[in-house]
Amino acid sequence: MIILISNDDGIHSEGLHALEAALRTVGDIYTVAPDREQSAVSHALTLHRPLRIEEIAPRRFAVDGTPTDCVNLAVKGFLPVRPDLVVSGINKGANLGDDITYSGTVSAAIEGSLLGIPAIAVSVVSWHKPFHFAPAAEFAAVLAGEVLAQGMPKDTLLNVNVPNLPRHELKGYRVTRQGKRHYSETLEVRIDPRGRKYYWIGGDDLGFDPQAGTDCVAVSEGYISVSPLHVDMTNYRALHELRDLQLPWR
Ligand code: MN
Repeated sequence: MIILISNDDGIHSEGLHALEAALRTVGDIYTVAPDREQSAVSHALTLHRPLRIEEIAPRRFAVDGTPTDCVNLAVKGFLPVRPDLVVSGINKGANLGDDITYSGTVSAAIEGSLLGIPAIAVSVVSWHKPFHFAPAAEFAAVLAGEVLAQGMPKDTLLNVNVPNLPRHELKGYRVTRQGKRHYSETLEVRIDPRGRKYYWIGGDDLGFDPQAGTDCVAVSEGYISVSPLHVDMTNYRALHELRDLQLPWR
């Protein structure tokens, strides 16, 4: 079985190395990853300049593009074989709730899914050292083996978030739905040495809606969260409510 590995933290990321080591026990791996950090680039594709690829080791390739570029070009003919599975990560930082819309890590998995390949995104829930990549990598290998053996529902990717804990402190795993994060609405405004204003966006993490069954709650309780996602963003409840929409338009 062929596994394509990518990420958004870049080809030199420690989390990527941990994932590669674990998935080597599951299948034949190829790594095609950005040549530098591309966190929060979401599902961007590079369409207005050429992409260059450097083979930095056998079956390890660095691309001067986004995570989505990496998966796209790898699947569409750069690799000599079509992958059976795409695994993205292991990201330094959570991809819970609304984070998913910004995430380069999840977007690499989305790209695999859009190209008809089962895909998994894996993140560790912490933004600072020490990162416990080993338990996340071990879980990713188990899940990857299961997906390769059993398949996955069509048009689905799995978004995995692992609490940043040593193996023996993880309580287990839960299959979850996407929760709702709270971000601060502050904007940092500062003055540069030439007297011009500059801005920092991103804000602080202010917690989450404590709804049972969500990714946020599972992780906060010490469980690995596995959320099945798909790309159909239709709000079916709203579709129903808007069925009789009347606009003054002919
Ligand atoms: Mn990242």
